[in-house]
Amino acid sequence: MDNEQIAQLAGLPVLEVAALANRLENVRRSVAAAAQAAGRDPAEITLIGVSKFLPASMATAAVCLGLHDLGENRVQEMLAKQDDLSDKDLHPSWHLIGTLQKNKVKYLIGRTALIHSIDSAELLEELASRSSKAGLVTDVLLQVNTAHEATKHGFDPDELLANADRFASQSGIRVRGLMTMAPLFEHPDQTRPVFGQTQILFASLAAGPLGSDTFNILSMGMSQDYSQAIACGATHVRIGTAIFGPRPSQG
Ligand SMILES: *Cc1c(COP(=O)(O)O)cnc(C)c1O
Repeated sequence: MDNEQIAQLAGLPVLEVAALANRLENVRRSVAAAAQAAGRDPAEITLIGVSKFLPASMATAAVCLGLHDLGENRVQEMLAKQDDLSDKDLHPSWHLIGTLQKNKVKYLIGRTALIHSIDSAELLEELASRSSKAGLVTDVLLQVNTAHEATKHGFDPDELLANADRFASQSGIRVRGLMTMAPLFEHPDQTRPVFGQTQILFASLAAGPLGSDTFNILSMGMSQDYSQAIACGATHVRIGTAIFGPRPSQG
């Protein structure tokens, strides 16, 4: 598909599609460069385009431009965009990256490739039980609050180490790894200790009861700090602004 066809399908001006294509290409190049600088194979890194708060038209165009993974913060918004793109026969992998309320779990079963934001044992249990009843296995990440920020969700690192057996032994879910968010620092290099500690925690958990061939995802890095995250072993980066441009307000 050329930009004009994409613009038509998405319902966007061609210039906007061209600008999106440019930003996406720049981010791809920069992700690959960060991987190479860290002595890693760029193919190890999954680029998730965070389309939260943006219209389905932008998500549509990004998928047509070759983005295979989309991240969303809110359940209803994700499901609406999923339906919209499905109607256009577009089927990217959908990642839920925002805080998930227990009462929304039932709408999600069977509709995500990966849930990054499991932040409590109760939430994990609810998801496990509903997935089992549906005869499905849901892939999840445990969100860890490495920097101990009061404003952020997530497990305390010690809490994860102490409860790893319990998290590993639930049917209906498969714990694939960890997700973290670094605090917003003045300089992105200040994120390194947070990402570094998360990498160490990930390795410790992989050596324990959660360890398996499928415990292999480390989701960290956003528009400001993905290079640092990649240097610290991130396998999945969640990038919104750098791909899509500034977001409309969160509403
Ligand atoms: C919004 C969001 C992102 C993307 O943020 P950008 O700074 O726009 O790249 C990544 N992860 C989570 C959890 C988010 O909520």
